[in-house]
Amino acid sequence: MQSFEYRKAYSLQEALEAASASKEASAFLAGGTDLLVQIREGRKQPRYLIDVKGIQEADGLILSGDDLSIGALASIRTLETSPSVLEKVPLLAQAAARLGSVQIRHRATIGGNLCNASPSADMAPALLALEAQAEICGKTGRRVIDLDKFFVGPGATGLGDGEILTRLKIPLSRKRHGAEYYKLSTRKAMDLAFVGVAVFLELDGGDRISKARIALGAVSPTPVRVPSAEKRLEGEVLSLEAARESGELAAQSCKPISDLRASAKYRREMVRELCLQSLLAAYSQAKCSTEGKIE
Ligand SMILES: Cc1cc2nc3c(=O)[nH]c(=O)nc-3n(C[C@H](O)[C@H](O)[C@H](O)COP(=O)(O)OP(=O)(O)OC[C@H]3O[C@@H](n4cnc5c(N)ncnc54)[C@H](O)[C@@H]3O)c2cc1C
Repeated sequence: MQSFEYRKAYSLQEALEAASASKEASAFLAGGTDLLVQIREGRKQPRYLIDVKGIQEADGLILSGDDLSIGALASIRTLETSPSVLEKVPLLAQAAARLGSVQIRHRATIGGNLCNASPSADMAPALLALEAQAEICGKTGRRVIDLDKFFVGPGATGLGDGEILTRLKIPLSRKRHGAEYYKLSTRKAMDLAFVGVAVFLELDGGDRISKARIALGAVSPTPVRVPSAEKRLEGEVLSLEAARESGELAAQSCKPISDLRASAKYRREMVRELCLQSLLAAYSQAKCSTEGKIE
């Protein structure tokens, strides 16, 4: 393994200063479950590692007003088990429970999962379907962007040099809603998705869908939302036909590749099927749900 200089940052300011001093030769270290593997395999060769795990401002969960704010350093295990997440945004807990193993989930962070920008990152489709926003801090200040603008290519994000992802903000729904994440992987555990589908549905006062959000992982160069498939459902009482057509639109709009995990053709077919199944499951949850009370 190539050697590197290790530095622990205890505040955001310290991390930003260290990154600015070392320019592009540095990398932020959170849980290290992606980065250390990449360094060992020679895929990344940073000269300086800036350990950000101790930065309080970028950690913890804050439930306030109409949203849940999640620190980028929150572990995947925290998201899987937190009572606030399980109650307010169970979709996120569901996705977290499908990532790696319990040991990995204790180390891995939500920020690391997004910043590594793998097309198959498990947390991305759920966060896109929940319309999360990303708070980013750099030497020149703080900015907030919609998460669907964050991913720019495989392994590439919109983070500028020395910028840190600090928090994710998820708006909470007051309406009746349901959500589902389905993942297919070659093995049942400890394996990356070859298809991931996250769906979030909100109902109007009756049984019509007032908002549909569908996001896909592992079938395009980045995790993506599928506006055409979402629009097909809005204003509808969900029928099997509408769910099938929406799944078809999602399958047509994605750009899967063939690799050792699955062929492009199979991935596309599974997008169609998983969209159908997740829409039916999310809709039946939404119909059984009561209006959200936000404390
Ligand atoms: C055995 C094993 C199984 C796995 N299974 C899965 C799986 O099923 N699903 C899945 O999605 N992933 C899986 N992974 C990948 C990995 O565990 C996750 O992507 C994890 O969430 C990465 O988080 P981390 O904190 O370890 O990131 P790190 O490795 O510390 O960092 C990843 C990248 O993000 C950057 N970074 C980290 N935090 C920040 C920040 N706050 N701001 C700016 N840049 C930052 C780092 O510089 C680095 O480039 C697996 C990994 C292993 C080793």
